[in-house]
Amino acid sequence: MPVYTLPELPYDYSALAPVISPEIIELHHDKHHAAYVKGANDTLEQLAEARDKEQWGSINGLEKNLGFHLSGHILHSIYWQNMTGPKDGGGEPLAADGVGDLADAITGSFGSFAGFKAQLTKAAATTQGSGWGVLAYEPLSGRLIVEQVYDHQGNVGQGSVPILVFDAWEHAFYLQYKNQKVDFIEAMWAVVDWQDVARRYAAAKSRADVLLLAP
Ligand code: MN
Repeated sequence: MPVYTLPELPYDYSALAPVISPEIIELHHDKHHAAYVKGANDTLEQLAEARDKEQWGSINGLEKNLGFHLSGHILHSIYWQNMTGPKDGGGEPLAADGVGDLADAITGSFGSFAGFKAQLTKAAATTQGSGWGVLAYEPLSGRLIVEQVYDHQGNVGQGSVPILVFDAWEHAFYLQYKNQKVDFIEAMWAVVDWQDVARRYAAAKSRADVLLLAP
């Protein structure tokens, strides 16, 4: 039995159009995300084999692969749920929609929603090579932070919990947006599901002592 499995999409391939085309969603989920799931499972098997044989010559590569594939699987699993059709998504979190705690946390951490949106847009759109823009709950301070993630796993504050992720890899947009990565990231805001982000914020905050660093 594999440890990790590919989650079903919470909508059909065309649900995010015109922001993201059905062709991109199908390839992205069924091929790219699936490859990270397989990579994480394969790497765990290879590590088990290394332990059995006490052969550690590939340990550096295996640990790197584990971080890469596992993080890819986790970020994509969040990514699909962070989005909803343009009819239901977008705008900004509002107390009237039941997501006032998230709205307050964004304002408290970034000064304003506009400031937060500008920072996350810039962080995602200026990734060098492949990466992500991520809004994360940072449990030591109890604040929200924006991270510019390299590949799937680099440049991350340990213990921070991703709650809104923008995939800035070329596979996420190139078939539709060509080289206009910033246009893709700006369009993405129209399909953000703030209910999902708020649910993730509440869950992360409720486990705020997870690092056990406070006295
Ligand atoms: Mn991706």
